[in-house]
Amino acid sequence: MFDALSERLSGIFASIRSKGRLTDADIDKTAREIRLALLEADVALPVVKAFIAQLKSRVKGTEVSQALNPEQQIVKIVNEELVEILGGETRRINYAKQPPTVIMLAGLQGAGKTTLAGKLASWLKKDGHSPLLVAADLQRLNAVDQLKVLAERAGVDVYAPEAGSGAGDPVQVARDSLAEAERAGRDVVIIDTAGRLGIDEEMMQQARDIRDATKPDETLFVIDAMIGQDAVSTAEAFRDGVGISGVVLSKLDGDARGGAALSVRHVTGQPIMFASTGEKLADFDVFHPDRMASRILGMGDMLTLIEQAEAAFDAEQKEEMTQKLMEGDDFTLEDFLAQMQSIRKMGPIANIIKMMPGAAQMKDQLEQVDEKQLDKTTAIIRSMTAEERRNSKVINGSRRLRIANGSGVTVNDVNQLLNRFKEAQKMMKNMTGMMGMGGGTKATK
Ligand code: GDP
Repeated sequence: MFDALSERLSGIFASIRSKGRLTDADIDKTAREIRLALLEADVALPVVKAFIAQLKSRVKGTEVSQALNPEQQIVKIVNEELVEILGGETRRINYAKQPPTVIMLAGLQGAGKTTLAGKLASWLKKDGHSPLLVAADLQRLNAVDQLKVLAERAGVDVYAPEAGSGAGDPVQVARDSLAEAERAGRDVVIIDTAGRLGIDEEMMQQARDIRDATKPDETLFVIDAMIGQDAVSTAEAFRDGVGISGVVLSKLDGDARGGAALSVRHVTGQPIMFASTGEKLADFDVFHPDRMASRILGMGDMLTLIEQAEAAFDAEQKEEMTQKLMEGDDFTLEDFLAQMQSIRKMGPIANIIKMMPGAAQMKDQLEQVDEKQLDKTTAIIRSMTAEERRNSKVINGSRRLRIANGSGVTVNDVNQLLNRFKEAQKMMKNMTGMMGMGGGTKATK
């Protein structure tokens, strides 16, 4: 799965490897190639469009990290967008407050529902639950027997109509299974429902009837990852026909192009919760969007590198900031501005400050910085001469007026800024004093 897509993406990334920076034309070309790669992997068009729009706006926008080279930046953003279309966070089962939790499986015939029922039961059992499998697929010959075999392998009980009574009522079986679960002390009920080769109204009605009779906590839509472009219409039909709360991808071990996997979350609006990767009971796991994305990119190493580069860059910035904070008497208007600007970039400045005595007030002050204020502050400080920035004491009345006019603000704004700066400067001095780090620290720099 995803081999072709992975290969295409690697090629695209390699083609920008040697670039020092990306022009708009480079970005457009890269975006076009990624678009094609996704389409060829059978990803649904609306999903591709959303993906590319997001990618372009992020790459062209201000979100350019100085820590990364152009290739790393693109890989990082593609990775994050892949995680996003795969659902972001890993989604866990919503267990009922009052057991049994009812999990209903829906999907086309052959999607892998019955197999999945067995796998899920086995997985839940290992997780400390005591599941009951319910054979409400009375349509397909052998489905009941298949479920019994799976249940035995998984070491769980199965609730099924008597053998040979294929004409039984699946809704009744599903309803009765809840009482059976309660009687037998089972905390999760997994209901296997009938599928058809294509979507039809009778099947949807039956699924709705089972749903209404059992009020599932989860309705999982099982979809064959090899299904290709049909994924969208099938997923929409189940979303609208039965209502689903999560998706299970089956047959991820196949060599299909993987488009269904990348489209289904966007189309259904529901998260992929589990993935099935083979015919054995153990070929099954919780679905992790981030792991799947890095598998598609096939760039585990580079992703680690990106993380490390960013962390190192952040650490360097923090180090510089800490240094400045410690040298209270060096603290100038330039530093004040730089500090405010970095607050936006690196939220965790609060962490540095937290480590310092007397920091609470400082933190409050830093948190008050909003973007407009920051623009204003920048304009004001930029209108000062180098001497004024270095030594704010020289800024008298006439200089204040000049600065106000130069930066298009009022004298009052300039006064306020200088007052805030003085406060900050005082706090710096206090902190330096408390830490026993007088002017002497400068010599050790
Ligand atoms: P149902 O009609 O939805 O209940 O589908 P089944 O559970 O009977 O599965 C249909 C076929 O797909 C069976 O031959 C299964 O062994 C096979 N199958 C199910 N899940 C997987 C999987 O994850 N990988 C592979 N390779 N085969 C699977």
